[in-house]
Parts: sequence; C-alpha cells; structure tokens
Amino acid sequence: MARIVQKFGGTSVADLDRIRNVAEKVKKEVAAGNEVAVVVSAMAGATNQLVSFARDIGPLHDAREYDTIVATGEQVTVGLLAIALQNMGIDARSWLGWQIPFRTDEVHGSARIEAIETEQLDKRLKSGQVAVVAGFQGIGPDGRITTLGRGGSDTSAVALAAALQADRCDIYTDVDGVYTTDPRLCPAARKLDQITFEEMLEMASAGAKVLQTRSVAMAMRHNVKLQVLSSFNETPGTMVVDEEMTMEQQKISGIAYSRDEAKVTLSGLPDKPGIAAAIFGQLADAHINVDMIVQSAAADGQSTDITFSLGEADLDKAVGLLEAARGDLGFAEISSNGKVAKVSIIGTAMRTQAGIAKTMFAILAEKGINLQVISTSEIKISVLIEADYTELAVRSLHEAFGLESA
Ligand code: ADP
Ligand code: ASP
Ligand code: MG
Repeated sequence: MARIVQKFGGTSVADLDRIRNVAEKVKKEVAAGNEVAVVVSAMAGATNQLVSFARDIGPLHDAREYDTIVATGEQVTVGLLAIALQNMGIDARSWLGWQIPFRTDEVHGSARIEAIETEQLDKRLKSGQVAVVAGFQGIGPDGRITTLGRGGSDTSAVALAAALQADRCDIYTDVDGVYTTDPRLCPAARKLDQITFEEMLEMASAGAKVLQTRSVAMAMRHNVKLQVLSSFNETPGTMVVDEEMTMEQQKISGIAYSRDEAKVTLSGLPDKPGIAAAIFGQLADAHINVDMIVQSAAADGQSTDITFSLGEADLDKAVGLLEAARGDLGFAEISSNGKVAKVSIIGTAMRTQAGIAKTMFAILAEKGINLQVISTSEIKISVLIEADYTELAVRSLHEAFGLESA
C-alpha cells in the first residue's frame, strides 16, 4: 500500500465527463489499495474568467478581494469530483484550502505556503476516505483567503505530498509529459522519459507552464517523487529525477519560451553607485519581479542606460512607479515595450561544454532575429526577442540542437 497525491489540471476537469474520467483514475489507485489525496484545479477557462471579472470591476483592486473571487473556481470542481467519486461507491469528501488548512503568507495573488496541518487529513486517509483538495488556495495570517499565483495547483499538490509524506505526486495534465519544448508550438517536440529537477526548474521559470516553478523547487527541497502524465491516456509520463539518476546527457535538454514579457529602458541615468539599488529597490518594494538586466557602459563617463525585463502584467505599474520617482532617480528618458518574448535553452551539459551560446546566437542571427537582452545561468541561456519571432526562434533552435531525434 502506498500514499499517493494525484493532481488534475483545468483541462482534465473541464466538464462533467472529464470529471467522471478523473474519478476513474482515482478509483484505480483506490482499488490498488492506496491512500489517495486528489488536488484539483478550476475548470479550464474558469480562472481566466474570474480574473477578468475582478479586473473589469476595478483595474486597481484590493488583492484580498481578488483572491476571494479567483479561488472560487476550485470550490466547484472539488465538490463535483467528490460527488462523482461517491457515486462510484468511493468514500470521498472535498476540502477547501482554509478547511485543512493550507497556511500561507500574506502576499495575496502569489502567496507562499508556509505550513499544512495534516492531522485531520491523515486520519481520514488512513480510514480509507479520499480527500479531494482545492488547489491554488490557502489562508493568510489574518484569516483571509489567499491564492498561490497562476498555475498554483501544482504547488498545492507537491506541498501536500511533502506534508503527507506521500510516496508519489502524480501531476495529470493535457499532454503526455514534459517535452523538449512546448508540443503545441513545436510539433517536432519529443517527450522526455526523465528530466532533472534542476533542468525542470529552469524550464518552468523560463516559461514552460507544464509545472509551476515553485512546485518544482518544493519537490526538490522535500524530495518528493514527482511525475507528469496525461489524464487522457495510459502512456507513461515523465519522471522528474535527481541528476545522478539521469541516463542521457545531451547538449541541450529543452527549450522554453514566455510571451508574457515586457522590457523597460531608462536612459541618461547618472553613472554613480546606488542607482541600480534605488531603481530595483522601488520595484521590489512593490512586489514587482525583474528578470533580465543589462547596463551599458557610460560612453561619456557620466551617464548610462539600464534595460530590464519583467512580466507584462507588471509593466504599467512599473512604468508608473519609475515615472513618479524620476526626480530621485535622475534619468532623462523612459521607454517600454510589451511585445517581447523570452526564449531560453536549458541543459546541464552546458556546464561542461563550450560554444553552446555561440551556436544559439548564430542560429538566431541566421533567421534575422535580433537579440535585445541576453542572460545566462549555469545551465540556461535566455534571450529577449521581438514577440512575433517566438515560434520561428523555438522551432529553429529545436531543430538545430537536434532535439527531435536525440
Ligand atoms: P494544467 O491545466 O493541467 O495545469 P497547463 O496548461 O498549466 O495544464 O500546462 C500544460 C501545458 O503546458 C501543455 O498543454 C503545453 O502546451 C504547455 N507546455 C509548455 N512547455 C511544455 C513542455 N516543455 N512540455 C510539455 N508541455 C509544455
Ligand atoms: N486554476 C488556477 C489557474 O488557472 C490554478 C491552476 O490551474 O493551477 O491558474
Ligand atoms: Mg498548470
């Protein structure tokens, strides 16, 4: 007997037939004698609609009320799945984040899980009851409902698996596993049998939304056995594993992209200590995450330019904040562009092989794609390009690095 956490994403619970299909997958684990906790997302499209309701009624809304609204999508699916299971003769009940509870910090809209009280769940699981748990939500220090950021049900599932000391966490989704790149953008993408935690972490943070970044970090930290697989067939999925366990060592294991990027350039900044700290301090205080940064050398020895990228959703807020601080920061001009995308290549083999960056830049140059910002980490190279070229860039890199046939 094992203890298993199964997570089903939005497309897997998109309508009642699919919820019945999920119930069948749960039933199989129960029939095998396992203790099962199931984490579900809202029906596909439901969270987007709730987000737009909140935005439309007040573009600058109270983040606590935003969470109250967007957390409701999962309340519907846990109830429906619990009923579907009960109709199959399986003892099951639904749990909302606050009922368990999932305790989080107070950062509404992207709260972090701090603790999960598992005493009640533990007892129920041992007695054979299936726990159907709402993903994406928790309760903050002041008793208000919080949400974990888009795609957060993955993190709910991994956190629950860690807290319950589950033997496995299975993330069921609408593709057969983790691919070399998004199979919807690049039909030549190939499913990976395994991917290392580190590579998966970089892929996720570079935009591969198949797993939320925080879920991978959490699985890595708590040693959760993590698997990504399809809820629509029985094909074996992708295991996320430690580096020592990998069999293949390719040049590049994956390519990720994100279209939700924007770029800001501040020019004519005084070239003196403390300027970068002042700019990025302001943004950090407003919980705006900055990703790539370049500062150009001062040609005249006095003034400099800084360009950085950030999430498109934060662009207006960031520009507004910086404009308001123009007097203190002393820049001459600010310009921004919301039509950029980030394309990244990822692979642990980069640590030991030279020339990968050169190859990447040459391929993109050959296609006439201009690189606006470049950043590198030990196992990742990212470039910011014009958004219209995303597909061309991903497909060309995928082919040039031989990912479809490796
Ligand atoms: P869920 O609703 O199940 O959480 P998501 O839409 O959040 O599903 O994530 C699955 C999607 O991630 C896939 O449909 C696919 O388009 C996208 N995706 C992006 N990069 C990859 C990748 N490297 N491998 C697999 N899927 C990817
Ligand atoms: N329903 C939430 C979202 O759409 C959480 C999730 O699906 O993981 O972002
Ligand atoms: Mg998801």
